[in-house]
Amino acid sequence: MILVTGGAGYIGSHCVLALLEHGYDVLIFDNLSTGHIETVERLKKYGKVDFQKGDLTNISDINSVFRNYSIDAVIHFAAFSQVAESVKNPQKYYMNNVGGTMNLLSAMLEFGVKKIVFSSTAATYGEPVYIPIDEKHPQNPINPYGQSKLMIEKIMDDYDKAYNLRSVRLRYFNVAGADSQGRVGEWHEPETHLIPNILKSTFSGGQTFKMFGTDYDTKDGTCVRDYINIEDLAKAHILALEYLNNGGETNFFNLGTNEGNTVKEVFASCEKVTNKNIPVDVCPRREGDPASLVADNTKAKHVLQWLPEKSLEYSIDKAFEWEKILNSSILTTNSSK
Ligand code: UDP
Repeated sequence: MILVTGGAGYIGSHCVLALLEHGYDVLIFDNLSTGHIETVERLKKYGKVDFQKGDLTNISDINSVFRNYSIDAVIHFAAFSQVAESVKNPQKYYMNNVGGTMNLLSAMLEFGVKKIVFSSTAATYGEPVYIPIDEKHPQNPINPYGQSKLMIEKIMDDYDKAYNLRSVRLRYFNVAGADSQGRVGEWHEPETHLIPNILKSTFSGGQTFKMFGTDYDTKDGTCVRDYINIEDLAKAHILALEYLNNGGETNFFNLGTNEGNTVKEVFASCEKVTNKNIPVDVCPRREGDPASLVADNTKAKHVLQWLPEKSLEYSIDKAFEWEKILNSSILTTNSSK
């Protein structure tokens, strides 16, 4: 059985679906602080999914998981992930992300589980020194969120050397889209990400989309990001797990497409997919946004044989389908956390 921490969240839930499709049994461990019990209920329809509500900062919660289930490997998503919040409240990020992971790793060591796939981030690189960013790029995070993820990466290196606990750290660029069958999707409250915010503004009662910064040194003045499809991303987790199962050594990979799109390009693509003229409120820059972030994904392609396939427009189309489901109140009428 594979333990998926944070499996009720956006990336975790898509990864659970991918695991089920590959024949794995899954145990989701989630405190439901940002994930949703409705997501877990939906996932249960598609395979063997157990759920344990618990918090990684409480060591007895996570120890009981390993005591009660036979866990072969861990995929670890559970974390807080809002950059701005991390600047205002670093304690929350270090206590939860770093402290929680320490407890998880302690439980793994105690119960002899030695394989983990970890949800890391391009934010560990900080302000880019060169583009595209490969894995040799210096890691100098510029906010506590990125710092917390980098600390965990370093802890994992030391745990490998001392205890043979092998890890694969996947450094995500901008994750986009939803399950192609509409089973799960992106569901953050509040939503801060670009694509869902543009799409939400098209529904009645939605807030006007705010475009943050049009004076960057990029081709049209707006920030460039590398948008990787969520199903392509989920697939990389399966490959990472298989890599560890086949004896692969501790490693780390960028997950992106090697291509960047500006905020204006994404916006235009959303107008095309929704077939709407979307109003826009041009605003000053958002603090802490680098002008460009684009991945060099060569290493993941070579070592994991990973091939991202889906286009930005495809991701936006699936994200729009999902927003319709969210908006139709199927999920939101009795939303509980
Ligand atoms: N962005 C925007 N309006 C929004 C959300 C995001 O203009 O409502 C911009 C943001 O400033 C950045 C890009 O879209 O340039 C991607 O932001 P997002 O929060 O989706 O991802 P991040 O790059 O911060 O991980």
